[in-house]
Amino acid sequence: MKLGVSECLLGVACRYDGLSASNDFVVKTLEKYFEFESFCPEKVIFGTPREAIRQVDRNQSICIETSNSKRDVTAQLAEISNNMGKEASIANLCGFIVKSKSPTCGLERVRVYDGDKKTHEKKGIGLFAKALREHSPYLPIEEEGRLGDAGIRENFLMQIFAYEDFSNFMKSKPKIKDLIAFHTSYKYLIYAKSPVSYKLLGHIVSNPKEKTFEELLENYRHEFLTAINEQGNIPKTYNVLLHIYGYFKKLISAEEKTHLLTAIEEFKEKIIPLVAVTKLLNLYVERFDMQYLKKQKFFNPYPAKLGLRSQVKAFR
Ligand code: SF4
Repeated sequence: MKLGVSECLLGVACRYDGLSASNDFVVKTLEKYFEFESFCPEKVIFGTPREAIRQVDRNQSICIETSNSKRDVTAQLAEISNNMGKEASIANLCGFIVKSKSPTCGLERVRVYDGDKKTHEKKGIGLFAKALREHSPYLPIEEEGRLGDAGIRENFLMQIFAYEDFSNFMKSKPKIKDLIAFHTSYKYLIYAKSPVSYKLLGHIVSNPKEKTFEELLENYRHEFLTAINEQGNIPKTYNVLLHIYGYFKKLISAEEKTHLLTAIEEFKEKIIPLVAVTKLLNLYVERFDMQYLKKQKFFNPYPAKLGLRSQVKAFR
């Protein structure tokens, strides 16, 4: 799987000051699972080291200027950002991690200075991040800074694995039966993100207006990729766990029921992490050989070794 990354996060000394912004999670953890494709628009046009740049609001128009010499480099940076955004869109990426706060790579809350004043508002988006969004509207994109949050990290990784899965599904020249199987396997994962999207996707697959399969796939693509961008939370995940519990409640003893329900409640109360409950549910999935549940991506959305469901803080 190919993951796009702002180059400085990989430990490459391409920042304006000749340093890198190496990120441990990217370099030490994600490199085991992804092939990186790196991008650094500023290095390509200005070299390294270089004068720092910043976003400046001049009469309600955002410009990019060098910090000291106040040279306007908006056009140059916009052009390279657009070219690299286009390049990224055809590189078969499953997601992108951008450098936060950068006037080029920052995805949100980039400082925008008020003309020549020293005051700023955190309201900008980096030119390259903007180009990525425009050329790849569904591509999962996140800032490295936000990935320090266990919930955002879990959600982003879930999203990029689902994105990759869907890309491979589309490349496999699917038929309607394949779409139904794909949709079925994502039932609980999507439900944990958005029950509304799950219903909408089900409606698309049922095809009441007898659309062509191409139209159906295009509608499904839009809704699926929008749904996986939604943030899951404890109430929605709790509902999914209860649904799954429903498969076993008539098959297991009263003691086992109590044990299982207590675990589900403890997840809701943020006492135990999700992995503790899914491990327990999996025991019953195996014991009763529940094929339908075995296929659910909800149980296995990304490599377990990433340990993303092992923290109570991963869900709120
Ligand atoms: S933030 Fe973006 S433009 Fe700046 S050094 Fe890193 S990769 Fe290059």
